[in-house]
Amino acid sequence: MPKIEIEVCQVGSTSTWKEKYDFHEGDPQAWAQAMLDRFNSTLRPGENPRELVSVEVLPEESQEHIWRKENVYTIVRGSQVYDKMRCERCGVTGKRHGLVSGVKRDSEYRAKKYEKCTGHV
Ligand SMILES: [Zn+2]
Repeated sequence: MPKIEIEVCQVGSTSTWKEKYDFHEGDPQAWAQAMLDRFNSTLRPGENPRELVSVEVLPEESQEHIWRKENVYTIVRGSQVYDKMRCERCGVTGKRHGLVSGVKRDSEYRAKKYEKCTGHV
């Protein structure tokens, strides 16, 4: 899910701060402004109205597995030459045959749901 980071300040003040939000769809600028408008229209005693300074859409986190080689030396088994690989984020394991080909996920991780990295085990 993309995130946006908005920079806001209190009206009449020059010091700003940043807040991060999940962002679903639409125009980030308009979305942030609408949120601030909502905040400003429901101020509680002691709260000051806020002003939007800037909006930044943060790059989406990669969904690719981050493969790390598990064995120190490349494994040679019969005619097979491979490295055992494990994703350092989600723990999915696989094998890489040769240096240029991609990593093939092990049979227990062959399902489609393991294709993208979820970032957790
Ligand atoms: Zn992963």
